[in-house]
Amino acid sequence: MNLTVKILIGLFVGIVTGILFNVFAPELFESVDMYFFGPIGTIFLNLIMMIVIPLVFFSIALGAAGMGDPKKLGRIGGKTITFFLTTTAIALTIGLSIALIVQPGDEGLLGSGDEDYSVSEAPPIMETVTNIIPSNPIEAMANGEMLQIIAFALFIGVAIAILGEKVATFRKLLEQGNEIMMFLVTVIMKLAPYGAGALIASALGNAGFAAMKSLGMYMICVVGALIIHTFLTYGLSVSLLGRMNPIKFFKNFVPAIAMAFSLSSSTGTLPLSMKTAQEKLGVSKQVSSFVQPLGATINMDGTAIMQAIATVFIAQVYAETLTVPDLLTVVLTATLASIGTAGVPGAGMIMLAMVLTSVGLPAEGIALVIGVDRILDMIRTSVNITGDAACAVIVDRGERKNGHIKDDEDIQVSS
Ligand code: ASP
Repeated sequence: MNLTVKILIGLFVGIVTGILFNVFAPELFESVDMYFFGPIGTIFLNLIMMIVIPLVFFSIALGAAGMGDPKKLGRIGGKTITFFLTTTAIALTIGLSIALIVQPGDEGLLGSGDEDYSVSEAPPIMETVTNIIPSNPIEAMANGEMLQIIAFALFIGVAIAILGEKVATFRKLLEQGNEIMMFLVTVIMKLAPYGAGALIASALGNAGFAAMKSLGMYMICVVGALIIHTFLTYGLSVSLLGRMNPIKFFKNFVPAIAMAFSLSSSTGTLPLSMKTAQEKLGVSKQVSSFVQPLGATINMDGTAIMQAIATVFIAQVYAETLTVPDLLTVVLTATLASIGTAGVPGAGMIMLAMVLTSVGLPAEGIALVIGVDRILDMIRTSVNITGDAACAVIVDRGERKNGHIKDDEDIQVSS
């Protein structure tokens, strides 16, 4: 049985177990979660997170070094960022349109939020920009500051490309480091069916279905927008720009999607999503190792969709009207918020505070939607990483078409 099937079975068993516990034995669930699901899930998560920082550093540095001249880096970087921003704008348009048409908050829902939520201020924009350059790269790695790690890796990669032969040994070291991380991914993924199952059981056992009922309309809007965006935007762009059959794209990418679903973390899924893109979608290592870590950090269309719909929903519940300038502000701040969102569970909720306050809504509104966020987080994270893979496929095919990557260069497409 292959890994994908095993992961899907693990997920299914986890989902059923979690729901059964939640409905029939919520008290028993607490201790089962504490001594069984919780630890298994945490060990699995830690194993993955253990390799993420070195992997991001090695692969981005190598990706940049492999592009040889800064022109190529600029070209690929330019295309990547353009794709990320365009798809995020489309995602927001879909999300806002659905929310405005369906008006999920008009149902006279919910008195007030029942969950405690302490609001953390979003950092000022300029601080975010200047902070991209780490004053201490070791500290950046220790704290898992992805953008800073990427910036440092880019500097190292460009330096390697310029210095060439002089630093061949160091480059070899990075290559071998990368090789080791990729090998560890394969080993750790053998545990994925159990880890993913335990994580899902734990999430669903805790989620509570009472909250879901009253927030049904909001959830349907978010999930609907996510589905439309995935199949329409990514499906079309992969087939038109990447000249790949979208069915093949989605089918081959399923292992990574299933993993994102259970981890709710783009960063955590990165090792597997890179491996899947390289081995099953035929994306060159060079493009994959540049586009996907960057995407896992800054490209979060699923998160943007949730933030747009949550903002409209909360405005409706608070009986506030969003004007057209307000909606444009939502587009702008949700784009920035999704760029600034860390690829870890629940991060999108924290950044929602920034979007809400930008249109004068109380950040406490988050309490209204946070109860069901764990479930939506699983789905939007799957969308987030699918967008990165779509971009990788498109950029890769473009490079091949123009002869910048040879067809036999590290390609192993499986049908
Ligand atoms: N969990 C999401 C991710 O890792 C971020 C979010 O909370 O929206 O992509």
